[in-house]
Amino acid sequence: MSSRSAIAGAGPTGLVLACELRLAGVDVTVLDRLPGRSGESRAGGLHARTLEFLDQRGVADRFLALGRPLNVGHFSGLWLDFTRLPTRYPFVLNLLQAQVEQLLEQWAAEFGVRVRWSSEVTGVRQSADGVEVTLADGAAFDAAYLAGCDGGRSTVRRLAGIEFPGTPATLTALLGDVELADPPGEGVFMRRTEHGDFSVLGFEPGWYRVMTTEYDRVAARDEPVTVERLRESLVQIAGTDFGMHSPLWVSRYGDAARQAADYRRGRVLLAGDAAHIHYPAGGQGLNTGVQHAVNLGWKLAAVVRGHAPESLLDTYHAERHPVGHRVLHNTRAQTALGRPGPQTEALREVFAGLIAMDEVNSALAGMISALDVRYPLGDADPLLGRRIPDLDLIAERGATRLFTLLHRAGRCCSISSATRSRPRSRGTGRAVSISSWPSARSPFRTPSSSVRTVTWPGWRPRASKRSGRRARRGSVRGGSRPRRRGRPGRSSCPAASGRPG
Ligand SMILES: Cc1cc2nc3c(=O)[nH]c(=O)nc-3n(C[C@H](O)[C@H](O)[C@H](O)COP(=O)(O)OP(=O)(O)OC[C@H]3O[C@@H](n4cnc5c(N)ncnc54)[C@H](O)[C@@H]3O)c2cc1C
Repeated sequence: MSSRSAIAGAGPTGLVLACELRLAGVDVTVLDRLPGRSGESRAGGLHARTLEFLDQRGVADRFLALGRPLNVGHFSGLWLDFTRLPTRYPFVLNLLQAQVEQLLEQWAAEFGVRVRWSSEVTGVRQSADGVEVTLADGAAFDAAYLAGCDGGRSTVRRLAGIEFPGTPATLTALLGDVELADPPGEGVFMRRTEHGDFSVLGFEPGWYRVMTTEYDRVAARDEPVTVERLRESLVQIAGTDFGMHSPLWVSRYGDAARQAADYRRGRVLLAGDAAHIHYPAGGQGLNTGVQHAVNLGWKLAAVVRGHAPESLLDTYHAERHPVGHRVLHNTRAQTALGRPGPQTEALREVFAGLIAMDEVNSALAGMISALDVRYPLGDADPLLGRRIPDLDLIAERGATRLFTLLHRAGRCCSISSATRSRPRSRGTGRAVSISSWPSARSPFRTPSSSVRTVTWPGWRPRASKRSGRRARRGSVRGGSRPRRRGRPGRSSCPAASGRPG
């Protein structure tokens, strides 16, 4: 069996998966049908959970240096305050998808990952030992596993015979990156009229992103996407085209919401838009794809390297399919809340009142930023299955942060109180002894006594009496090795770890 993994698609999802696999020592080939990077940007922002992952790998600064933090998000155009998100990144980082992809590709290249452009996957044949991948030019090669990160119209999904049920489009949205002779005084975001809504955003000096949503029309698939069509739509909704000219890019999208029935079929796995499509409300698609890749990366690496049974891969579906489902759900809700009409206006007014309440704001901000994701690992503890925040720690060598200890994927990090027995670590794991977690200096208001149960998937608190004692002593152990019986266990991890996702 080949020890190589193949990834179809060099978008954000495929690139992050490639980085995670390489970091864990897996040979990986990334294939993309395009001749090179298109430079086009659909997404324009990174949410807190994605920034936390990048921090866990030590590369967040590269993204922060280029992006612009905005301390608000939105739910169907109703503002959400992100400033109180319990993270070091209480904002959405405004950064074009093209720049995100460029930075990810540079990062991947540092591990020797090269994207094979002009390599369209056209055939996939699975056997007990591996996957034979065929390309449009007739070339073929073997891989142990194939990850389909090839976007919403995923060929891999189709070839693997994975169903893609959901709801069809009910609206037409157009997007153009254009120059404007007569721009509005300040940015316009989701301004509503009886014909739909429009936005005019000064994304970069010299050009604007113009978006329209027509709620009463579903474009035929073969309808040409032109700047003239965008102009017509804008004039109809906004009453002016703002002197639009010199388009860099024009695109169309809709609110079809579909999700792959299985995120894994044998040796084929799906991630990102290949696993689900939805309306881009709230800017969640790219972020969700990256977080899929993070969840899948260490698991696939552990299986390929023989450190875990294949059944570990089923936990990828078990943990991430519900997350994808929830994104579809909330984007459908946002679309419903966006339709023109007096009933929706009334509903929005009620909703705006609710969002002004702290608890509602926190709940929606947690959902859009994905900080509130909780994997279904049982109810033994309210924090089981949740992400671990970036705690300040005082370790043997001085002050550090938890995320700093996780810079290498594919390794276990076992953290224990220095006052107890020395932390254990096996194989490639790393053991860190800490004398305290000065929660007062932490931005998360996390009482040190709750640290014990702040978990990643696969962590399990010990039986309650012992957990209570461990909590008081302050012991954190993570990156557990999946037990041979298939379910992730709670201790001893030779390879899989830094389990951020
Ligand atoms: C208007 C708009 C705004 C958006 N804004 C946001 C936002 O602010 N935040 C956010 O998180 N998300 C946003 N999104 C969603 C985001 O753009 C996508 O979710 C994201 O691009 C998905 O990444 P991906 O890597 O899964 O797929 P893609 O980016 O689609 O990449 C798939 C790759 O696979 C390649 N490929 C396809 N078929 C094959 C094949 N057969 N063989 C080999 N390669 C193949 C393609 O060439 C492509 O490079 C927005 C989307 C739209 C439409």
